[in-house]
Amino acid sequence: MSDDAPRFAVDAMLGRLARWLRVLGYDTAYDAGMDDPQLVQLARDEDRLLLTRDRHLLRELKPARAHEVRQDHPLRQLKELVAALRLAPPPALFTRCMLDNAPLEPVERAGVLPLLPEGVREHPGPVWRCPMCQRLYWDGSHVRRMRRALEAALPGWLAPD
Ligand SMILES: [Zn+2]
Repeated sequence: MSDDAPRFAVDAMLGRLARWLRVLGYDTAYDAGMDDPQLVQLARDEDRLLLTRDRHLLRELKPARAHEVRQDHPLRQLKELVAALRLAPPPALFTRCMLDNAPLEPVERAGVLPLLPEGVREHPGPVWRCPMCQRLYWDGSHVRRMRRALEAALPGWLAPD
């Protein structure tokens, strides 16, 4: 992800979009417990583009930088953003934790082998760990499923696997 890639602050109604943006490696702040003024403040303090479906928020709180999301379905919302902001496809998927936005770190496979599901242990491949929540990520069926969903929603956008 390049240094000038946009960074986002996502409102509480767009949690699934936030996860997709993290899967793509975009730095995405999302906290369902935050109220609207806190979210607008966070976006301003951290120079993030606010993504919201809430017209009331846009009208009343006038965030400096915002995009009003119009689509209902998370992958259509992502497609809307890719077009509106001309988002570049990421060099790789799953470089950031879906749950807390932390960049993932590679780990020695041998050291985490007992923590991997049985079916995954037998297949070689890199493993990453989230330094915040310690969750492990590997290139398995879950990743392939999400990649297929992205390819279906955004044909030709992602680099081939
Ligand atoms: Zn995490």
